[in-house]
Amino acid sequence: MKILVMGPPGAGKGSQSSKIVEKYKMPSISTGQMFRDAFNANESIGIEAMKFIKEGDLVSDDITNEIVRLRLTKKDAETNFLLDGYPRTVTQAVALDDLLEEMDTKLDAVINILSSHDVLFERMEQRRVCKVCGASYHLRFKKPVVDKVCDKCSGELYQRQDDTHESVKRRLEIYETKTKPLLDYYSKQGILYNVNGMQSFDAVYEDIILVLDEI
Ligand code: ADP
Ligand code: ADP
Ligand code: ZN
Repeated sequence: MKILVMGPPGAGKGSQSSKIVEKYKMPSISTGQMFRDAFNANESIGIEAMKFIKEGDLVSDDITNEIVRLRLTKKDAETNFLLDGYPRTVTQAVALDDLLEEMDTKLDAVINILSSHDVLFERMEQRRVCKVCGASYHLRFKKPVVDKVCDKCSGELYQRQDDTHESVKRRLEIYETKTKPLLDYYSKQGILYNVNGMQSFDAVYEDIILVLDEI
């Protein structure tokens, strides 16, 4: 199964993706997480990307397409993968289709998690993430058992540099102009499935599984 999880920033892509990949035993490929890991490891690509990320801007299509190409051509992504937060522009979507065609394969489904801007602001301002494994928490809806410590790996929880009010505003604007047109792109391919993201974690997950079990 080869799937994309899309949606505006804060919709719950990362939270749902981690549960989906556990169920279907597939690699989760998040471009945002790859950039943050590279930054935390002091790698030049991460340092370069963070200049854009912290302002709420997108990283360039060329850099992003290249890291995805390197990742998708690894052995573990041969039969199954989940892409979280990529593609985010039409240019990236076309590059992905070209790459998949080269690999003689295609996408099975695009899950689009919908949410209102009010909910998204609240979620991102209250989000905390693990510096080590990237798991995300919420100060009210998904509190860690021990304050500021990851339940899964005991890593330190921190607030992302781009989860400020200004940056969130900018990311939502960019989502509307650059990423939303992709919904039409995938709808025309007949592989777009919308899921209401303004429900409990479990209800959103169940709706996604209903779709994935059918394809
Ligand atoms: P994305 O990867 O789309 O940016 P995340 O999965 O990191 O989103 O979720 C954003 C924030 O919202 C996190 O703090 C997460 O714990 C919280 N969250 C995600 N889904 C839900 C939900 N269904 N109900 C309440 N909070 C949620
Ligand atoms: P969120 O969905 O909460 O915005 P992500 O972790 O998916 O979080 O992305 C964080 C940031 O990383 C984005 O705002 C952007 O700057 C950068 N980024 C992630 N994926 C892409 C992409 N496909 N193209 C360009 N930039 C990206
Ligand atoms: Zn962790």
